[in-house]
Amino acid sequence: MSFPSAPKDRIAELASLLSEPRKLAIITHYNPDGDALGSSLGLAHVLRAAGHQVQVVVPNVPAPFLNWLPGAEEVLVFDRSKDDGTAKLQDADIVFCLDFNRQDRVGQAEEVLRNVPVKVLIDHHQDPEEFARVAFSDTAACATCQMVFDIVSALGLASLISVEAATCLYTGLVTDSGSFRFSSTRPHTMRVAADLMERGVIVERVHGAIMDDNTADRLRLLGFTLSERMQVFPELGAAVLHLSLADLRRFNFTPGDTEGFVNYGLSIRGIRISAFFMERPDLVKVSLRSKGSLPVDLFCKEHFNGGGHRNAAGGQGSDGLEAAMRKFMEHLPAFMYQHPA
Ligand code: 5GP
Ligand code: MN
Repeated sequence: MSFPSAPKDRIAELASLLSEPRKLAIITHYNPDGDALGSSLGLAHVLRAAGHQVQVVVPNVPAPFLNWLPGAEEVLVFDRSKDDGTAKLQDADIVFCLDFNRQDRVGQAEEVLRNVPVKVLIDHHQDPEEFARVAFSDTAACATCQMVFDIVSALGLASLISVEAATCLYTGLVTDSGSFRFSSTRPHTMRVAADLMERGVIVERVHGAIMDDNTADRLRLLGFTLSERMQVFPELGAAVLHLSLADLRRFNFTPGDTEGFVNYGLSIRGIRISAFFMERPDLVKVSLRSKGSLPVDLFCKEHFNGGGHRNAAGGQGSDGLEAAMRKFMEHLPAFMYQHPA
C-alpha cells in the first residue's frame, strides 16, 4: 500500500523530531467531530505505544455521541480547565494540530497555541495557514484519520496501531466520508478501512455507536426541521434549513443533535446546495453542503467568515438568524450562475 498523505521529506523531519521519547500534546478544532477526535485519539494511542507521553486537548466538550471512543475519558477540555490545558500545551516538546487549518479554530486555546514553538500540522482542509514546523496538508484526503494512518505507516509504526487506535481512526473515516459515500472516498480510503478492520475494528459496533445513538428528542427535532423549517428553491437547486433558539429549546437541544441535518437538504433530487442556519446565543452557525464542483468553502470564506472543504464548509453570521439567511439568499443566485452544473 502507498501512503499518499505522507511525503518522504516531511516524514524524515517528523521521524527526527520523534527520535527520542517526548512530551507531546495533540489539539484539534472547536466542536470536535468524529474525525477531529478520532484522529487525535488514534494518533495518541500510537505515539504512547511508541514510548512518548501524550495529552489530547480539545477546545470544548465533544458531542456525547463520541464519548465511547477509546481514550475519550482522558481528554482535557480547554475551556473547562484552562490552567491545565495551558500547561499541557506549553510544556509539550511538540504540539500536533489535527483536522484544522487555522489557529483561530481552537477557540480559547488560540493564544496559547500561537506561542507554541514546535507544531506539527496534519489536516485536510483547504488553504492551511503556515504555522507549523512540519505540515502535512492533503486536501484530497477524505479524513484526517486517513492521513494519520498514512503518516504512522510511513514512520514505520503501523505495528503499533492497536484495536483501540484502529477504532478511533476508523470512526473518522466513517464520519468524514459520510459512511464512504462522499466523492472524497477513494480506493485508498477503502484499503485503509480494510487494514483497520483487520486490526479488529468491529464495524457494526462503530456504525451503531455513531448512527444509532439518537434520543427521541433529536429525531423529533429532525422531523420538525424537515417539515417546518426547510425551504426548497428548485429553480436555484437549493435547500435552506434553519432553527431558532426557541426551536432548539422546544426539543431540549444538546450539542451534536443537529449533526448531519444539512445533508438531508442535499439529498433532494435536483438540489446542488444545502444550507443550514442555527441560532446560537452569541452567533448564527452556518453549514453549507454541495454536490460536484460547487465550492461552498469559498462562499463561507467570502460571506460567513469561515471555510472548510469544497463540498462541506461552515462559518458564522453575527447579525442574527434572519440577516444571515437573507445574506445567503442575496448572494446565492450569482454564486449558482458562476458555477453551473
Ligand atoms: P460543519 O458544517 O459540519 O460545522 O463544518 C463543515 C466543514 O467546514 C468542516 O470541515 C469544518 O472544519 C469547516 N468549518 C465549519 N465551521 C467553520 C468555521 O467557522 N470556519 C472555518 N474556517 N471552517 C469551518
Ligand atoms: Mn476532518
